Amino acid sequence: MTPYDAASPQARPPLIDGFGRTVTYLRLSVTDRCDLRCVYCMAEHMTFLPKAEVLTLEELDRIAVAFIGLGVKKLRITGGEPLVRKGMIGLIEGLGRHLATGALEELTMTTNGTQLEKFAGPLAQAGVKRINVSLDTLKPALFRTLTRGGDVAKVIAGIEAAQGAGLRVKINAVALAHDNAEELPELIRWAHGRGLDITLIETMPLGEIEADRTDQYLSLTKLRAELESFWTLIDIPLTTGGPARYVEVAETGGRLGFITPLSHNFCEACNRVRLTCTGTLHTCLGQEDAADLRAVLRAGASDADLVDAIRLAVDAKPKGHDFHIERAKPAVARHMSTTGG
Ligand code: SAM
Ligand code: SF4
Repeated sequence: MTPYDAASPQARPPLIDGFGRTVTYLRLSVTDRCDLRCVYCMAEHMTFLPKAEVLTLEELDRIAVAFIGLGVKKLRITGGEPLVRKGMIGLIEGLGRHLATGALEELTMTTNGTQLEKFAGPLAQAGVKRINVSLDTLKPALFRTLTRGGDVAKVIAGIEAAQGAGLRVKINAVALAHDNAEELPELIRWAHGRGLDITLIETMPLGEIEADRTDQYLSLTKLRAELESFWTLIDIPLTTGGPARYVEVAETGGRLGFITPLSHNFCEACNRVRLTCTGTLHTCLGQEDAADLRAVLRAGASDADLVDAIRLAVDAKPKGHDFHIERAKPAVARHMSTTGG
């Protein structure tokens, strides 16, 4: 048995950090590239990483399997846009095998949806049951502006293809004070009408972009109060160990989530870590802590060395984040597209 044989994870102690939190959730960013340029996520002219800096598919698989062997039960593939990376379905199929053994409980993806018409079927076949699709507006012109050139019809067709393939789809919408604030009730109604859950996200100060974030920031506490002026929101005790809080909208029967990293502290129950596409392990989204697993791998590490490096990084997971929207500078310099949303 290798030290991280994912088939028998019971053989090893779980990943527990210095504050007693068990890490069971890995977000794996597989590329920094994307076919869109969302204004809150990327600069208009991004310099993407040279290929040699990005983990190969084999390296991504090796690290993911090491985490599964250490008790990670939920794996989310993200980016950049995961579905623009060549060979992505092969990686997902490989990881999907750990669902069959029970070592992994859930394999999911966050995608912008532009390629879903093509890939929804293969994703479902590989064992993916649920995906998140990012969609901030249904208005074609506003979508084009927010994504710097995207076509909303393609995303909607992608969502339909995913539902047709049997995937459960949750919509993620970033709440933007001046762009989609007024449309959000309509977007929620649209999603619920199609059997889709929807989660609203506050903008987070990650990476340098052109727009003024203080100006884009829309408090979800305020928005929730507004929604409650015409809807009944019933709290539901669903927790994913992350910053999302969920309600049911009585009038639509659908589920609505709020991700409020800036106005709430969700760190005590945090169960997740993130790996960038360059192999840097961030144990906290809002801190600069980092462990270079690519260097470990490329130095010819054994499986035991890799497990040691992961344990060391998790042990030092910071207690909490440090976001403040009012700061002119981003809290951390890396973009969400690099870290993985
Ligand atoms: N390309 C895929 C997508 O858009 O779903 C996956 C990666 S994207 C970085 C993941 C999520 O992060 C998206 O839902 C996106 O809206 C969100 N996001 C990006 N930049 C953000 C920011 N500065 N604040 C809050 N959410 C952000
Ligand atoms: Fe691309 Fe997703 Fe970032 Fe938009 S949010 S630019 S789709 S990575």
